[in-house]
Amino acid sequence: MQFRDLKEQYRVLKDEIDRAIHQVIEEGNFISGRQVTELEGALAEYVGVKHCIACGNGTDALSMMLMAWEIKEGDAVFVPDFTFFASGEVVSFEGAVPVFYDVERDTFNADIESLERAIKAVKEEGKLKPRAVIAVDLFGQPADYLKLAKIAEKYQLLLLEDGAQGFGGEIEGRKACSFGDAATTSFFPAKPLGCYGDGGAVFTNDDKTAAYLRSLKVHGKGSFKYDNVRIGWNSRLDTLQAAVLQVKFKAFQEYELEAVNRAAERYTELLKEVVKTPIVKEGMYSSWAQYTIQLESQEQRDGLQAYLKEKGIPAMVYYWKPMHEQAAFQDLKKYISCPVTEELCQKVLSLPIHPYLSEENITIIANEIKSYCNPAC
Ligand SMILES: *Cc1c(COP(=O)(O)O)cnc(C)c1O
Repeated sequence: MQFRDLKEQYRVLKDEIDRAIHQVIEEGNFISGRQVTELEGALAEYVGVKHCIACGNGTDALSMMLMAWEIKEGDAVFVPDFTFFASGEVVSFEGAVPVFYDVERDTFNADIESLERAIKAVKEEGKLKPRAVIAVDLFGQPADYLKLAKIAEKYQLLLLEDGAQGFGGEIEGRKACSFGDAATTSFFPAKPLGCYGDGGAVFTNDDKTAAYLRSLKVHGKGSFKYDNVRIGWNSRLDTLQAAVLQVKFKAFQEYELEAVNRAAERYTELLKEVVKTPIVKEGMYSSWAQYTIQLESQEQRDGLQAYLKEKGIPAMVYYWKPMHEQAAFQDLKKYISCPVTEELCQKVLSLPIHPYLSEENITIIANEIKSYCNPAC
């Protein structure tokens, strides 16, 4: 059994993907080909924002957005303690300080009260300038941007949606990657919408930001590539990846998103009396980057993971360590404590989930969890 079955997806989409790849090779525009522009237009329309700027990966997307906002040394950027490393790494990379805030036990997303405590702690100390909040759509469910926007406004902070895991999610019918002052996503193969390598994108309604990012990602180009008006990067989405994404994006809209939601619902039906199953808040729609259950203790979690492995079922721990405990961040000041994140890191276990997961396999996985947990964990 696969954790995320990209081979099965390829089997289903093979003809179209092969054709799309061959077309790129025949057309020969490997960098910034028409497929990239077409994809950007389609993604922007789907998400409901004016501009989509494709780039090399989701980490570059975050970094370039922080550069657009001139986040720098002496600035504080608030980042969830429970997320993938990149969400905080990019802040340090710009010379600013990531200040970690806690998440909610039920949704794994921003705890608004904890965020406000962190902002107040930084303001009281008076050393750093609070500039921005990064919120993460962890495991596919959008963070609560209605509440986040209010806090950002109250403290005059920029709000960045890290939608690397959230593409396809919704709040009250409004699509993920359209929230905050700007949003980013990743097309890493295992994300809800993934390509066959690295890829990412920024979403913004702001014309100036979009123009800046289009320059930045191609060596700070001006009117053309050899007119360089600023120090930039090289961060582009390959035409081949865009062509693959065009095919996958069609399947994503036509049936994958619905299928992965059916799989998640089925898991919850089978497991809700046995373990703590993930909760999607009223009005929210998840794209299920992960289906993450919670056990009673680290011992039980590790035991279940080992048991499932023995049965040929891969289950992963996302995330095993709070951001503030990562060695790379060991010199950072801890402004507030994040007890929920610390607990989650001991208790979470992500089960195989993807649009091609069969009902039969879901039942097999659920039954193995039941027999380990008997009668409940
Ligand atoms: C994957 C991920 C990223 C980084 O994306 P890459 O394309 O791998 O650089 C950033 N933030 C979160 C929350 C992610 O899950």
